[in-house]
Amino acid sequence: LSERLSGVFDRLTKQGALSEEDVKTALREVRVALLEADVSLPVARDFVKKVQDQATGQAVTKSVTPGQQVVKIVHDALVDVLRGEGDPGKLKIDTPPAPILMVGLQGSGKTTTTAKLAKRLKDRDGKRVLMASLDTNRPAAMEQLAILGNQIGVDTLPIVKGEDPVAIAKRAKTQASLGGYDVYMLDTAGRLHIDQELIQQAADVRDVVKPRETLLVVDGLTGQDAVNVATEFDDKIGVTGVVLTRMDGDGRGGAALSMRAVTGKPIRFVGLGEKMDALETFEPDRIAGRILGMGDIVALVEKAQETIEAEQAEKMMRRMAKGQFNMNDLKMQLEQMLKMGGMEGMMSMMPGMSKMAKQVEEAGFDDKVIKRQVALIQSMTKKERANPQLLQASRKKRIAAGAGMDVSDLNKLLKMHRQMSDMMKKIGKMGKGKMLKQALS
Ligand code: GDP
Ligand code: MG
Repeated sequence: LSERLSGVFDRLTKQGALSEEDVKTALREVRVALLEADVSLPVARDFVKKVQDQATGQAVTKSVTPGQQVVKIVHDALVDVLRGEGDPGKLKIDTPPAPILMVGLQGSGKTTTTAKLAKRLKDRDGKRVLMASLDTNRPAAMEQLAILGNQIGVDTLPIVKGEDPVAIAKRAKTQASLGGYDVYMLDTAGRLHIDQELIQQAADVRDVVKPRETLLVVDGLTGQDAVNVATEFDDKIGVTGVVLTRMDGDGRGGAALSMRAVTGKPIRFVGLGEKMDALETFEPDRIAGRILGMGDIVALVEKAQETIEAEQAEKMMRRMAKGQFNMNDLKMQLEQMLKMGGMEGMMSMMPGMSKMAKQVEEAGFDDKVIKRQVALIQSMTKKERANPQLLQASRKKRIAAGAGMDVSDLNKLLKMHRQMSDMMKKIGKMGKGKMLKQALS
């Protein structure tokens, strides 16, 4: 994949400006490359479309070539799809004893991952963990977990011959309560392929213990099939997260992308080897970098963007202190909001803004709205941005049409600008030095 992309982007880098056709050509190659990396067809298609929408009309960062910019856009879009909500490493295991159910196909790495995760919970979070194997199909599997438990210093439920999985699960639950464990982990049996018996067994166990987390363990090398497995397990048992194993191999991580996109389930952990500490919290950035294989360029563009943002922020703070706030300032604010994940992030940047935050929040602000507002400002001329009072009816019509919106949308934006501008003036009068210092510190 990376070779392909390198080729494409090398070509693009050598051109001065990036035309729409260039973007399209590059993304056609991206699509093929994603498919080759075992990303499912609909996912690859959606992804490419999304990137195309994002890339169109985006400015190229100063000191960065258009080709490098495209790499960064592709990378960011990948990270976006891969990232779930919240912290992937944080499991819902607050009320002891919290059951964690491990499911997946045979050989996916369930038993290994159960032990790795138990070790992590013990070492990092100081949890008392009990592990139990429900794999009655293969006697050796129960032994395997007991041996791993010994190795990592985590208790395993004593093996009782002839018990069925549900009975073992019940015993584990009781033992976990009596023994004062924080967490008990149930390692289930797998099959080579999904069959009803396997699913039924897992569902029965689920009904008995009501797991706080049901983690689906998937071999990261399986590609396309991973999506079917994930969908089936989620439909029948209900999955709260995914663990991708064997990511230490030379798989390209395509499974991660399609599973994430299709099931919407967060990827929680990544298995990076057979050893007990070879389990890491899922990092979308890292996997995206791997799928793309162009970390250097991404880092370079990020560096250039950071430098420019720091310069801009400083400039804006100085303007604000003088009570100046035009459309360029507003645009920067909005973009900052997008980047920092909404109002909270922005507040941390700008002291004394809580009232405005409320207003903006009440106006129903989300990323989409903000992006539309940025588009409106982009549709203004340089002169108009610097002097919003120039905006009379005919200009408004032109601007709104240019951004594919109505004049009423633009009026809302202008109203917000006026309110913010007033606020800035007040703050500017209140205490220039103090705020500037705070904001720049
Ligand atoms: P189960 O049948 O789902 O319980 O799978 P196991 O946990 O028994 O794992 C099957 C094999 O895969 C074992 O040899 C493990 O050591 C190996 N394995 C599990 N996770 C990883 C991983 O992240 N990387 C590598 N390289 N091997 C793994
Ligand atoms: Mg096993």
